[in-house]
Amino acid sequence: MSTPGAAPKWDVVVVGAGHNALVTAAYLAKGGLRTLVLERRERVGGAADTSELADGVRVPTLAHTVGRLRASVQKDLELSRHGLSLVAPDVRVFAPSSDGGAVTLWSDVAKTAAGLRARNAHDADAYAGFDRQVRALGRFLDDLGRSTPPDIKAPGLGDALSALRLGRSFKGLGRDGSRTVLRVLPMAVADLVAESFDDDAVRAALAWRGVRFGNVGPWSAGTAAMLLGDAAGNDGGAAGETVFAKGGPGALSAALAASAREAGAEIRTGAEVTAITSRDGRATGVVLACGEAIEASGVVSGLDPKRTLVGLVDPVALGPSLGWRAGNIRTPGVVAKVNLALKKLPVFPAAVGDESLLRGRILVAPGIDAMERAFDATKYGRWSTQPIIEATIPSLADPSLVESARAGTHVMSVIAQYAPYELRGHRGQAAGDWDVARENLGDTIMSVLESVAPGIGKLVTHRQVLTPVDLERQYGLTGGHPLHAEAGLDQFFVWRPLLGHARYRIALERLYLCGSGAHPGGGITGGPGQNAAREILRDLRGRRG
Ligand SMILES: Cc1cc2nc3c(=O)[nH]c(=O)nc-3n(C[C@H](O)[C@H](O)[C@H](O)COP(=O)(O)OP(=O)(O)OC[C@H]3O[C@@H](n4cnc5c(N)ncnc54)[C@H](O)[C@@H]3O)c2cc1C
Repeated sequence: MSTPGAAPKWDVVVVGAGHNALVTAAYLAKGGLRTLVLERRERVGGAADTSELADGVRVPTLAHTVGRLRASVQKDLELSRHGLSLVAPDVRVFAPSSDGGAVTLWSDVAKTAAGLRARNAHDADAYAGFDRQVRALGRFLDDLGRSTPPDIKAPGLGDALSALRLGRSFKGLGRDGSRTVLRVLPMAVADLVAESFDDDAVRAALAWRGVRFGNVGPWSAGTAAMLLGDAAGNDGGAAGETVFAKGGPGALSAALAASAREAGAEIRTGAEVTAITSRDGRATGVVLACGEAIEASGVVSGLDPKRTLVGLVDPVALGPSLGWRAGNIRTPGVVAKVNLALKKLPVFPAAVGDESLLRGRILVAPGIDAMERAFDATKYGRWSTQPIIEATIPSLADPSLVESARAGTHVMSVIAQYAPYELRGHRGQAAGDWDVARENLGDTIMSVLESVAPGIGKLVTHRQVLTPVDLERQYGLTGGHPLHAEAGLDQFFVWRPLLGHARYRIALERLYLCGSGAHPGGGITGGPGQNAAREILRDLRGRRG
């Protein structure tokens, strides 16, 4: 605690050390602000984490790919000098089916189209055009993603300039493109892909990124926008990015932490924040679980907005109206994670003879209706008995995950959707208690893997199953939501996380939000963290105390 009247020791306290918070902290420290980061867990990185699954075997605990990370963040924070090394396999997606067939999406558009020709000539002809469309609209969404949403109460000169820039970007789409973006954004991704492709398996492989991490199915409105958002600011195009960090996503977090520390930030782990303090409507610091109070000129939260506002800010300071609105931010997690250690590489009949097919994302999404049916389950509080799966075998691209003494061992990282946060119990599934149901869900996910890689179950030496409730307990993700808040059109741009609080300044004077719940949203992008830093520096540089 500082002496009354004296300037606090810290210009900024950053709550949480997820990758976005680390990005913000690094920029703030580089900008000359005395910056302290406080993380509840013993490791930095949040969902961008690598952990030991078994002796000498490390896995990407939650997220597995890092290809959406903004290039400007990598460059500004000199992440390669701080140890970040990326691997990008040629194959982006391998989507096998139980009949031994597969759809494969490569980084090379022509190669993908050539592969599709064996299935369907019409789809092969359509692919390059679809890829161009996704890239063009994704570029516009990237421009939107880099902008601070406008001040809706008192727009200023900055808002006018930003609107001008966006207007130019919109015009740059051309007459057809600008009409298309307005038409496409509210669409269901199932309808979008059906405009170009006939084959259901191709449609599903392309539509997946429109529903990944969301409590939505391919027939839900607004899922086309999620697909395009995933292609914003990266080289993903129609296939999507598949890039691994050597050492797993935890290596990215370590590089960010090193960059922030070098710039002068202090990072404390094992430091849980239990309250954000305020006086006369202005944030003044934080209190830790151990009782220590830390004062600062500004407080930045890298936590999700619901946890920040409902969990940490004094309800009196928040007021009943904002408290109610914050409580209604939608965070319906439907993602489970399974991590496997395998004694050898599993055999996928659709990939026999070409192991390189397994180096990207392995998608089990048999068709659009199968995805929608998997989503249906969560509406009624059940997990899907045929979940959609995105798996990777990162040890193929990055053998360093497995110690040489365990030669032949591989790790598999499996994102499974749909499993609701709240189990309501139906058709033999337990109600309310994931602690009872966790391993049953793990068995269900394994049975889907068995359908495309027979015998995989026998190769498993270690298995970790994380339900949405585990994601909340262990990583502080409210509702188990991987993106801090659902990415629907009602929580997009000026509505993310709440109308009137979308400019990284939230609820109190000098309280800021820099995590995935802020515009432009979740995924390992560093986007909200970078945008927030720009606004915080604008407010606080030269205005300390
Ligand atoms: C299972 C899963 C798989 C995913 N796969 C991918 C993927 O492959 N590619 C991709 O791009 N994205 C993926 N995502 C999404 C992506 O990982 C997240 O959107 C992103 O990492 C969130 O980063 P963040 O910095 O905004 O917040 P977080 O990573 O959530 O960080 C918040 C931090 O705050 C800390 N914290 C919480 N409460 C407190 C407190 N009271 N005091 C102090 N600290 C606190 C937490 O411990 C955590 O470290 C996945 C997410 C999940 C859950």
